[in-house]
Amino acid sequence: MSTRRKFLHKLGFASVALVAAPKLFASLPTEKTNLPIVNAPPIIISTWSHGIAANEDGMKILNSGGKALDAVEKAVWVVEADENNHSVGLGGYPDATGRVTLDASIMDHLGNAGSVCYLEEIMHPISVARKVMEETPHVLLAGSGALDFALQKGFQRQNLLTPEMEIAWKKWAETSEYKPIVNFESHDTIGLLALDKNGHLAGSCTTSGMPFKLPGRVGDSPIIGAGLFVDGEVGAATATGMGELMMKTLGSFLIVELMRNGHSAQEACEMAVKRIWERYKNEKESRYFQVGYLALGKNGDYGAYSILPGFQYALAMNAENKLIDSDWLIKK
Ligand code: ASP
Repeated sequence: MSTRRKFLHKLGFASVALVAAPKLFASLPTEKTNLPIVNAPPIIISTWSHGIAANEDGMKILNSGGKALDAVEKAVWVVEADENNHSVGLGGYPDATGRVTLDASIMDHLGNAGSVCYLEEIMHPISVARKVMEETPHVLLAGSGALDFALQKGFQRQNLLTPEMEIAWKKWAETSEYKPIVNFESHDTIGLLALDKNGHLAGSCTTSGMPFKLPGRVGDSPIIGAGLFVDGEVGAATATGMGELMMKTLGSFLIVELMRNGHSAQEACEMAVKRIWERYKNEKESRYFQVGYLALGKNGDYGAYSILPGFQYALAMNAENKLIDSDWLIKK
């Protein structure tokens, strides 16, 4: 018997298990593929009330037969470009030193991924993330490297700190008190998932991160598996809220894996939220812990869940586009 076989034998693995294992894993990715359609595509689901405008733009692409990947990129432009939205792109809250730094990620149904983090002076980080995905061998570019790359690709540099946000930052700097605020202005990151008429999934996630964050802080949004995950054979998930919690639990990846193993999109979101709460509820600041997850299955099944009340999402399907209050965990 070979040393490896002896070792496995000692651990109690029967030879039959060794033979069966590769087959088992090979079957995993397609397990959900033949599930009955729950909702017919096209479908877009996105975080917060700003998702309504984004869904509308994305649906124009999907209704005319366009690709989910194009829809998830172009849909979030309207939010990134809105200077009155203070959590994404232009007009986003700056960090503690007054710099607006952006995080974004994108994934397609084939498992391709691209992201940028700590990117400054570019209004559409989602499009830079797509270029990283499509035109480099990498997944994530950060800071000045991401900016240089964007400029090489023809993106225009611009000041993203609006006069309104500069005033807000100066006022905050008088005390420099960092307080996480639950459901900040009822619109934070936009995470958006789309299923096109061909049954292809894609997702995008873009944010200016936590207001007045420590310089250098990067959140969950550009981290594949934390703020966004797409598996074209199963489903997609995205997140908003306190990024550190999603980063420590890889919640978006977890949700898709739970769906792969037979859970509905709703059950998977609930399980991922409970995972966070069970593990971190005893931390001092846990009363501020807000995380909202969205999920969309390849079969049109969708779900949403958050730790605290107040999380809303926009759902576009069947010629409707509506804002919905998510269910949540901490009811008392
Ligand atoms: N998840 C984002 C971050 O932690 C912020 C948010 O969604 O509010 O950067």
